[in-house]
Amino acid sequence: MRLSKPEAVRVVREVIDMGINFLDTAHVYNDSEEKIGEAVKGIPRDRLVIASKSQANDRKGVTEDIDLCLKRLGTDYVDIYQLHNVGSAQRRTAVEAPGGAVEGLLEAVKSGKVRFPAFSSHSVPIAMDMMKTGTYSAVQLPINFIDTAAEKAVPLAKELDMGFIAMKPMGGGLLNDAGLSFRYLSQFDIVPDPGIERIEEMRQIVDIINAKQPLSAADKQAIEDMRKEFGPDWCHRCDYCQPCPQKIAISSVLTVKSLLKRMPFERAFRMANDNIAKAKTCVECGVCKTRCPYELNIPGLLKDRIQMWAEAVAAKA
Ligand code: SF4
Ligand code: SF4
Repeated sequence: MRLSKPEAVRVVREVIDMGINFLDTAHVYNDSEEKIGEAVKGIPRDRLVIASKSQANDRKGVTEDIDLCLKRLGTDYVDIYQLHNVGSAQRRTAVEAPGGAVEGLLEAVKSGKVRFPAFSSHSVPIAMDMMKTGTYSAVQLPINFIDTAAEKAVPLAKELDMGFIAMKPMGGGLLNDAGLSFRYLSQFDIVPDPGIERIEEMRQIVDIINAKQPLSAADKQAIEDMRKEFGPDWCHRCDYCQPCPQKIAISSVLTVKSLLKRMPFERAFRMANDNIAKAKTCVECGVCKTRCPYELNIPGLLKDRIQMWAEAVAAKA
């Protein structure tokens, strides 16, 4: 999303030249569908598996999103179409209601606009329950060596003959060791879905996967250490808690612990100090908490990070 159109087109074409055939986008990823459409022009359609997503709750909304997706991609079908983040009971009820998004999605399958109906979610219990309905051919869940809750959905997907797309294989950019990340994921029969911006990143990932090396004892120790460091209050940087009425960059503040650990203090300070100052304006309205799929106590965690920051700054003074 952050690359200019010519840069994005170049990156997508180069990864396709490397043998990558799966491209995942979404209606709400700014102009991502259009950029992918431009990049795949002239490539035989059956060489690619293209996936997109809609946040619409109702039949009409998802139908419009699918039609626009096909127009933007310049294709007459999309391989996998996902109901985007069905991560709460309310969203699930809405999409499954009469006249809901599921109806529109299944109509699109019937008319040939979509090959495989699917959904993405950040909630493993909701996802596993939905998988068992028999409605969907594929599921997308976050899974990486810190965020392991979805491990139990992998055998279920296999049993149900469903595709499994691994969202956030590098923790949304927080896990910076590609070797650890992809050696961990390689033990599962899933399709990793890394968001990359530079071609070198994909080359590195492909080399790691092709090396077919299992996790070493040192890898396992490093993973254990990182699990301890991140702890149970780990923010997944999904930003579903936004918008905050106080305009607090919640995920940036919640992840300052990692920033302090991984970056020279001066750089971390430049990146985070303004966000920490803004976090002090939290009025504890709790709106963000109702949206967080991981049920994090965001106002409490903000206070904790503000305190941690103050201590780090005092230690440097
Ligand atoms: S509780 Fe604080 S951080 Fe959360 S939405 Fe309200 S003001 Fe924003
Ligand atoms: S606080 Fe929750 S919703 Fe917000 S970015 Fe972190 S994990 Fe996502």
